[in-house]
Amino acid sequence: MDREIKTALVTGGGKGIGKAIALKLAEDGYNVVINYSKSSKDAIETVEEAKKFGVEACALKCDISNYNEVEKMVNDIIDMFGDIDVVVNNAGITKDNLILRMSEDDWDNVIDVNLKGTFNVIKFVSKYMIKRRKGKIINISSVVGVIGNAGQSNYAASKAGIIGLTKSLAKELASRGITVNAIAPGFIETDMTDVLSETVKLSMLNSIPLKRAGKPQDIANVVSFLASNASDYITGQVINVDGGMVM
Ligand code: NAD
Repeated sequence: MDREIKTALVTGGGKGIGKAIALKLAEDGYNVVINYSKSSKDAIETVEEAKKFGVEACALKCDISNYNEVEKMVNDIIDMFGDIDVVVNNAGITKDNLILRMSEDDWDNVIDVNLKGTFNVIKFVSKYMIKRRKGKIINISSVVGVIGNAGQSNYAASKAGIIGLTKSLAKELASRGITVNAIAPGFIETDMTDVLSETVKLSMLNSIPLKRAGKPQDIANVVSFLASNASDYITGQVINVDGGMVM
């Protein structure tokens, strides 16, 4: 029997791009699970906002870089909602530095959260999607993973890794009815980019043909499309959402 209401998991869904994605999917009619790693405040606020669209929503604490915690989170979601139809691997961190100053911890933390965290989530969610022969996996990469960026070798490597993971899994899971795509955002206004100096922000803006920074909603709109049946014939793709920054 086909369930009418679908369930979506958004990692790091309490703020920034993840929050916009969670609310857009709630608006689209999905029950949403908002994952968070530290403070529950943002995640709980997002849950309350999502419920206003008449769907079910909940916040689950889990550090996505921890394999066992992710397994438990995914099992809890299955117990609560019966299945996971859409997963958006959005959670990510930066620890920028030039290579000579980059510590081993800075390298390991960024790879562990951004790349291994994405693997962990897909590893456990795909088991259920394969059984149902249906599912949409959407990974948030970055234009930096496509073109690189000085001072972000750890972050760029993690985001390029997500692209390789996306394409490999798209090939592996296509026969099981599962699509796997990535979105590569450009310069989006969130806490992550708020810490950049005015000089860096200005130089970013100058490199954007559409002459504006992106909004979290710009990414959420593309997630909404990739989660929907309208994108059923698209898999293994990296969609730049960057105002034309990379072309
Ligand atoms: P943000 O810092 O506002 O949000 C990141 C989210 O990830 C937060 O909710 C945080 O709690 C969560 N998170 C961090 N570590 C986690 C962990 N171990 N387990 C679970 N959750 C964790 O950043 P944002 O700008 O909204 O970024 C969202 C995604 O978009 C990230 O993957 C980021 O790399 C990517 N991205 C952002 C931009 C941009 O310009 N803002 C550009 C390209 C890509």
